[in-house]
Amino acid sequence: MRGRPIISTKTPKEIMIEIGKECQSCGHCCRFGAGYVIDEDIPRIAKRLGITEDDFRKTYLVEQKRLNSKAYKLKTVKTNSRKRYGRCIFFDEERKCLIHDVKPLYCRIATCADKKGEALQWFDLNMLLNLEDPESIRQWNELIKFREPITGANLEELVPDPELRLKILTYEIFSGRELKAELEKRRK
Ligand code: SF4
Ligand code: SF4
Repeated sequence: MRGRPIISTKTPKEIMIEIGKECQSCGHCCRFGAGYVIDEDIPRIAKRLGITEDDFRKTYLVEQKRLNSKAYKLKTVKTNSRKRYGRCIFFDEERKCLIHDVKPLYCRIATCADKKGEALQWFDLNMLLNLEDPESIRQWNELIKFREPITGANLEELVPDPELRLKILTYEIFSGRELKAELEKRRK
């Protein structure tokens, strides 16, 4: 791709997939962990494997929390008992990614050329951040303290109302229920 476009929260998924083609599929990163899997990935991969979506979930996915949202990752296989990480369950030293043609969106957009982690921010913001959950917002705020946020990813852009932002960050608004009530109060 000539001249990588600037990634923002609103960059279309198709463009993110184009950017992801910078990946040379060498498989190096797949030795150290596995990709996230979102709902839309599941039918495609399960069909390719010839199993039901339920079986795919049970056999290949592990549930995690990210940005206080439920997230799924492909399982990993430990290759060295002294290391905490393992290789992706679909990584093979000779054939590399065994599901390359149907691999998860995360694996299609995340490339090692993305030194600033912009694609990963895009994924977090579009797939995992929950703007109806104050804890998700607070965790995002912590994450971007250590990164240059992509356009649209600043807390000021995500929660433009300064008073509301402060109430979320100071835990005055603690839960999603309280946030919903606060927003309804403001609409009146
Ligand atoms: S699905 Fe493929 S590309 Fe994604 S982490 Fe596993 S081996 Fe790597
Ligand atoms: S993202 Fe980079 S390290 Fe990972 S498979 Fe692609 S080229 Fe290799």
